[in-house]
Formats: sequence, structure tokens, C-alpha cells
Amino acid sequence: MSEAQITEPLDAARAERVWAALAGLIAPLPPSHVSANDALNGVLAEPVVTRHDFPPFDRAMMDGYAVRLDTFRGGAATLRDLGLIRADAGEPAIELRAGEPTCARINTGAPIPRGAEAVVMVEHAQETPAGVRLTDEPKRGQHIERKGAIRGGGEVVLDRGARITPGALATIAAAGQTTVRVHRRAQVRILTTGDELARPGADLTHGQIYDSNGVMLRELCIAAGADIAGVGHCDDDPRLLDQTLISALEAEVVIVAGGMSKGSHDLVPAALEALGVRWIVRSLDLKPGKPMRIGRSPAGGWVFGLPGNPVSCAVCFLLFARMVIDGLHGVASRPPAKLRCAVRQRVPANGARPMFHPARWWIDAEGQPCLEPIDWRGSGDPFGMSTANALMYRDAHAPAVWEGEMAEAIIVGTPF
Ligand code: AMP
Ligand code: MG
Repeated sequence: MSEAQITEPLDAARAERVWAALAGLIAPLPPSHVSANDALNGVLAEPVVTRHDFPPFDRAMMDGYAVRLDTFRGGAATLRDLGLIRADAGEPAIELRAGEPTCARINTGAPIPRGAEAVVMVEHAQETPAGVRLTDEPKRGQHIERKGAIRGGGEVVLDRGARITPGALATIAAAGQTTVRVHRRAQVRILTTGDELARPGADLTHGQIYDSNGVMLRELCIAAGADIAGVGHCDDDPRLLDQTLISALEAEVVIVAGGMSKGSHDLVPAALEALGVRWIVRSLDLKPGKPMRIGRSPAGGWVFGLPGNPVSCAVCFLLFARMVIDGLHGVASRPPAKLRCAVRQRVPANGARPMFHPARWWIDAEGQPCLEPIDWRGSGDPFGMSTANALMYRDAHAPAVWEGEMAEAIIVGTPF
């Protein structure tokens, strides 16, 4: 689906419809060359290839003795040790010649000397006055890894689309590379709105509450690998809001929290529309998070209008904004996967709207993924997400779930 195909904004949309619409619209940001050190969590736009064969030389895979096969008689040999070859030895000066009863002590990872055909483990060797006694006749090539056996030079070790994990960074380093081409990180602007919001630490005047969405959204974006272009606040004043949004809309992703519903101070949707934002989603059939909006700015940026209620704000980010940020970073766009977990605490029957209930998941001693709903006092409860690492899915009118029954959850954090 191209952008032009979005004709009518989705109203009262189920999560599945929103995911499907988003999947058809997200295009990765252009790639850029960056130092591998700055690429953690990025997605490769170009494969990584090895600079050299790996291993770059024939190497020993065990501590032991490099030997020729013709020196063994009746399963054993007594050989003169020509010296130690260490892993940093460079091209060994030692050579094992045909017909000479010689060997060379060798360490794991060291280059195999010329003439050697196998390595005998040090466990099968004994130093005797007559020489090194080896009691394990090796097969040709035993404990030797040949040059290029794992990868040839110029061979692909990481494909396009691979996520740069710590393991991938090791692969890039082992391939001899220092830079990679990854999709650029999204520049995100975050804006909280509401006359009543105070900075944590300030003394509250009557009617004020602390702004908790700003810090949460910032960290959620950072965890998604985005760059924060700014976190700001704007009062519910049409002129101020207009000015603030004009500059905010220059960002690739703008997240506005609060002011999205139908109250007299909910000015954000009209202000964004006046600035040319076209809606893809205008409201959700979802709990929590009904008044969420997703749109595109005239410059093509993504615009999220998240509900101000802290639980709704978090859930909407995790369900939708994160998918878009991932997609901009080059992650294949697909709906968040659901995991089937055993419910460990009764969950009451659900109401008329599908629900993503903040929950905690963990893996018990039997290896079973488990889930318990978090006790939250509605979407305005700012403490309701603090221990959530999953969102338990409840269908509209779903009956109560009893302890031991299975339920599906979207995983948003590591188990604990
Ligand atoms: P709104 O979406 O602006 O109508 O706000 C809904 C509720 O969420 C109100 O009780 C607000 O005070 C509260 N709220 C809005 N923004 C924030 C925020 N940044 N941090 C904490 N609570 C907020
Ligand atoms: Mg408000």
C-alpha cells in the first residue's frame, strides 16, 4: 500500500488494522556509513564481507604437538621437539621434514609449521629422555583448521537486514571491518502538553501533577534505537502550540503526548491538521488508548498523538510508535508477536473494547512462560507501567481467565 492509497483515516480501529496499515506505509530511512562502534542495534543496509580468509592461515585447534604422519609406528612415536610455536609467532621458522622424527610444540591458534600434517593433543604426550612420546596416532589434518575453512576472503558474514547485536559487532571485527552501512536512526521530537504539568522536583500548586510521560517516552525512544532531537513541553495555548508544532514537525518522528481527546483544552489534533498533517489513524477501538492518532506531516514525517494518560501513552507507544521507529531503522515491519503464557493470577472478564493489559511475564523453573496482570488503577495511574514487561491481550468481552489458563501477551521487555 502506498501513501496515496490511504484515503480515509481509520476511526475506532482495532490494533490489527492499524498494524496492517502501518506495515504498508513504513519505508526505511536512507542508509549511511558509520563506525561499527556507533552501530549497535542498527540494521544493515549492505552486507558485511570478510577482508581475508578466515582463519587467515592454517592453525592449531588444540595445545599439543604438530607432527608428520610418517613418524608414527604401531600407533605411537618418539620425536625430537624442535621448539614452541606460539599463537603470535608469525610464519614459523620451524619445518618438519619427511623422514625426520621431529615435532613442534604448538599452542591453540598458532600457525601450523611447514610439513606438519596433524596436531596431537598435549594430553597424549609425555616428555622422555629420548624425546616426546606421543601415544595417539593422529588422522591427517587432525586438530588443524585450514586457511579459509570457515569463510573465504570477500565472503558475506552478515546479510542486509541483520540487526547489529554485540555478537554481530564481533563478526564485523573478525571480518576485519570497522565501518558498516546501516539505516540512519530516526530523529524523534517529543512534546508533552498540558497546563497542569509540573517538572518532577517542583512544589505542586493546586491542580498540578508531575510530567511523567516526557521521561518515559524519551527512554522508550532511546531503547528503540532512535536519536532524540528534543524533549519539550507546551501549555494548552493555541498560539504557543502552533509555534511549537511548526518546528517540531521538521523531525522525522514527532510524538505529542496529551491534548488528543475532546476536552476544551485538547487542541492538538486541530493544530496539527491546520499545519497540514494527514491522519492515518484518528482513534482506536482499544483499551487503554482510545484517543490516539497517527499521521504524516507535509514533509513526510511521522506524527503520533498519544493520549496523556500515562498507561495509555505507554501502551500506544509500545504497540504502534515502536513498530514505526523499528521500520524506519530497517527492521521488517510486522505486527508485534504474541507469546502464549500461563496466567498465574486470575484476570476478570473484559469489557466491550479489546484490551492490552500491562502485565509481568517471567519463565518459571519448568521453563513455562508465565504472566500476571499488573494491578493498575486505570489508564491515569502513572505507577501502572513500572513493572510491566508485557501487554496481555484481552479480546472484547473475553471471559475471566483463571490461574493456570493460557493467554497471549506482547512481550515488551526481558523476563523478570
Ligand atoms: P489529556 O490527554 O491531555 O487529556 O490528559 C489526560 C490525563 O493525563 C490528564 O489527567 C493529564 O493531567 C494527564 N497527563 C497528560 N500529560 C501527562 C504527562 N506528560 N505526564 C503525566 N500525566 C499526564
Ligand atoms: Mg491535556
